[in-house]
Amino acid sequence: MHHNLYFTDKWKESFEAIFDHTELPENPSYYVCAPSKTDPAVAPEGCENLFVLVPTSTGLNLDEKTIKAYRDKTLSHLRETMDLPGLEENIIYERIFTGHDFASLYNAFKGTALGLAQNLTQTAVFRPKTKSSKVTNLYFVGANTNPGIGVPMCLISAQIVFKRIHGIKHGRPLSADDTNF
Ligand SMILES: Cc1cc2nc3c(=O)[nH]c(=O)nc-3n(C[C@H](O)[C@H](O)[C@H](O)COP(=O)(O)OP(=O)(O)OC[C@H]3O[C@@H](n4cnc5c(N)ncnc54)[C@H](O)[C@@H]3O)c2cc1C
Repeated sequence: MHHNLYFTDKWKESFEAIFDHTELPENPSYYVCAPSKTDPAVAPEGCENLFVLVPTSTGLNLDEKTIKAYRDKTLSHLRETMDLPGLEENIIYERIFTGHDFASLYNAFKGTALGLAQNLTQTAVFRPKTKSSKVTNLYFVGANTNPGIGVPMCLISAQIVFKRIHGIKHGRPLSADDTNF
């Protein structure tokens, strides 16, 4: 109910459009999050909070008309596939974010929403380290470093850096004992 994934049967074509042709996929896979199913506080009373994530390429230069058409197409598909009659008519507030917004609002590299890709050559020991090899005493936390993407991972990276700076060697999560100096 909270997390929903739609996998297109045009799997290969959708990834080719994203990674090889820098195009919007004709039939994308997408993620739908309904957080108000588990936390009513994230929507006004009697309403729901719905969030739809459609993966796209970096470097797309989309005009308003294209964004609107893709939005319409996605919501129609969602309405049909997830059996949500009246979906569009019931929208009270809506906001669309594209890669361009992630770049301009958050300074995200190439407009990435999720940070450095978590593929084989950029995972675990191959991911950028938490300590700079060039600048003394410069450390990194967050999605682009170890262990990776997602809020829990980012918090763990902060713990790793904290331990590193304070010479804490154990592998347990930090506790109050570790922070009493
Ligand atoms: C749509 C979406 C849904 C997600 N869903 C989930 C989920 O359900 N569960 C989950 O665990 N993770 C989820 N994630 C991933 C998670 O949000 C990220 O991995 C995490 O927030 C990354 O944290 P971060 O601190 O590395 O970077 P960010 O949270 O991006 O923070 C970086 C901050 O630095 C600021 N900044 C950039 N440049 C500068 C500068 N020069 N000076 C000062 N400030 C600067 C930015 O404005 C931003 O506020 C989701 C991400 C997105 C985009």
